[in-house]
Amino acid sequence: MQTMNVPNALTVDVEDYFHVAALAPSIHRDSWTSRESRVVGNTRNLLAIFEQFGAQGTFFVLGWVAERYPELIREIAARGHEVACHGFSHRLVYEQSLEEFREETRHAKNLLEDITGSAVLGYRAASYSIVRESLWALDVLVELGFVYDSSIFPVHHDRYGIPDAERAPHRLSTPNKQSIVEWPLSTAKAFGISIPVSGGGYFRLLPYWLTRWGLTSINRREQRPFVFYLHPWEIDPGQPRVAASRLSRFRHYTNLGKCEMRLRRLLGEFKFGTARDGLVQLGLLSVDGTKR
Ligand SMILES: [Zn+2]
Repeated sequence: MQTMNVPNALTVDVEDYFHVAALAPSIHRDSWTSRESRVVGNTRNLLAIFEQFGAQGTFFVLGWVAERYPELIREIAARGHEVACHGFSHRLVYEQSLEEFREETRHAKNLLEDITGSAVLGYRAASYSIVRESLWALDVLVELGFVYDSSIFPVHHDRYGIPDAERAPHRLSTPNKQSIVEWPLSTAKAFGISIPVSGGGYFRLLPYWLTRWGLTSINRREQRPFVFYLHPWEIDPGQPRVAASRLSRFRHYTNLGKCEMRLRRLLGEFKFGTARDGLVQLGLLSVDGTKR
């Protein structure tokens, strides 16, 4: 298979700074509606940057955001990007029962499909919370009509990760022997270690040259596309500061002011497209986005 020319997936998890799992212990969800929301402006800034580089991407939208700002979701779709689903409540999958997960995910998917008038094919869990104990969620995704997932992170982390999971995009068998396409969050391999180089906090915390080295090695040495992810609040150094633990503040606030410049470098140095188109070109989905 010729995979060298398949574009890398540019993905955005559309949520506000107060939805983030790292800050969850300090921000009660009852306070969400009374906080200053910045997701619309920040997402519009990302849309403008992507447009300058002619890059299309996949926006995994939180249902909570879609319900309040449907115009933003229509704008994302109208600019040619893919709208996909980031659940509704941003509760971690492994903290929900199967029924709770099914209901909130169905609600979020229906909402996005009503707003855009198009089928939503892809799903990404809050904080990559599809882990070994919550693989049952993949069966629920198949049942709800999703054709691909991008939630599995093949790393060690305190909140997520399946360290020995397959690293390349692939079709996997769910616990109930159904089939769904998985595009795991990208890691680079060096000295036998998996290094998360695919975006978010890692993109802000690691030096840019390390991200570029890792992503280049996935494209050139492994001959396959990577998936890159970012949150709208990561290019917003002016966001309100939240009192949180030292580790959480480090993860959330480090290098916010450098992120937009790094993103522009990245968009200039790599080729990007939507996750759906990448998976079609990899032969994992058919052209209309259904299973092959
Ligand atoms: Zn999220």
